[in-house]
Amino acid sequence: MKQSQLFAKTSKSVSKDEVSLNAKLLIKAGFVDKLMAGVYTYLPLGLIVLRKIQNIIREEMNAVDGQEILMPALTPKENWIKTGRWDAIDVLFKLEGAGDKEYALGSTHEEIVTPLVKKMVNSYKDLPVAVYQIQDKFRNEPRAKSGLLRGREFSMKDLYSFHADEADLDSYYEKVKAAYLKIFQRMDLNAIVAEASGGTFSKYSHEFQVLTENGEDLIFYCEKCFYGQNKEISEYKAGDKCPRCGAKMLEGKAIEVGNIFKLKTKFSEPFDLSFLDKNGKKKFAVMGCYGIGPSRIMGAIVEIHYDEAGIIWPTAIAPFSVHLLFLGKDDKIKKQCESLYNVLSENGIEVLYDDRDASPGEKLKDSDLLGIPERVIISERTFSDGMAEVKKRGGKEKAKLMKIDEILKKNLENRK
Ligand code: ATP
Ligand code: MG
Repeated sequence: MKQSQLFAKTSKSVSKDEVSLNAKLLIKAGFVDKLMAGVYTYLPLGLIVLRKIQNIIREEMNAVDGQEILMPALTPKENWIKTGRWDAIDVLFKLEGAGDKEYALGSTHEEIVTPLVKKMVNSYKDLPVAVYQIQDKFRNEPRAKSGLLRGREFSMKDLYSFHADEADLDSYYEKVKAAYLKIFQRMDLNAIVAEASGGTFSKYSHEFQVLTENGEDLIFYCEKCFYGQNKEISEYKAGDKCPRCGAKMLEGKAIEVGNIFKLKTKFSEPFDLSFLDKNGKKKFAVMGCYGIGPSRIMGAIVEIHYDEAGIIWPTAIAPFSVHLLFLGKDDKIKKQCESLYNVLSENGIEVLYDDRDASPGEKLKDSDLLGIPERVIISERTFSDGMAEVKKRGGKEKAKLMKIDEILKKNLENRK
């Protein structure tokens, strides 16, 4: 994509009411635009990143036999009354429609997915089944000052699994836990699996926590085996011995990026999601639910991967893999740049080409802000030898001079 045509503008400063680091960096670099507290528009660059995060999650959910569906965000009051959550969920956005009908904007979807699955399940032969969606959720969060970390409208992937018995839920739960760890690894996030409250019938739910100074949660975790517990429930204190491996437990601030629960029959009972077992006996399906927040993950990655000049995207979710910069005014140089851009693009390399009529200083500064992993510069300094300067964003190494052919070859190899 040519930067001169990009629907985005970088800015030097952001409004004073934006206090969070991730939102400041993302707004400055033109990835998102703030509509109001906790509500953001994804501009083209931001949307590419969000979609890449969602696609990694999608791949790993498909790999554990999750089937993707899309449920409505607008949901009827009756379903929430049935489970008592119309009043119990304090962040539920409630709406009035025509004819005194009331609705809620989905903050989570157990109330919708359970009666849906009931329509497909009659016998033990119909189980297990797992469905998920990637959709915007709505929560009337009292404090929405953390940018993408705490949205009032935000992206969530929610998976729901249904089983004939607890043993089957238990083994699937472990499979999803492993899939979640793989998701975070692919995005260069070190997630700690922390035990937390909120397990309805089991002792714990499991949160996936990434350590960072701006995290809203406090966790205890083992410095060696990374066993963890959320402080809210924890029987530990800093300095205690890890119950698993005996190493020291530390306390740290963290962001909860995912949360998985064993719900057992909490929702299948009120919605009568039952089936006939092998002996023809009626049983309630046993449920698990598994949430992960793509938009919060995007914010968390920015909180972790940045320097004083801007964002440093991990390769797997970067908006582009190469930022090609044309510096100077010479048309011959611009032509050379343009042809490298064309060859890279034709070969499926994701390249953003700064073809703008702007000063070198401005282009370099914007390139730092945008955080694309590799920068390739063609200028008067390099042009006559058919070379370009190549530099990793955020890397300590100096820029390397490389032949343009080699750059192409290297990128084609990386893509494999
Ligand atoms: P928190 O305790 O931070 O409010 P939660 O425990 O209520 O979050 P869950 O219901 O477990 O959140 O939601 C599943 C996932 O959705 C979370 O792990 C997080 O990644 C994401 N998420 C939850 N609330 C928000 C929000 N307000 N903005 C962005 N992402 C969110
Ligand atoms: Mg949670």
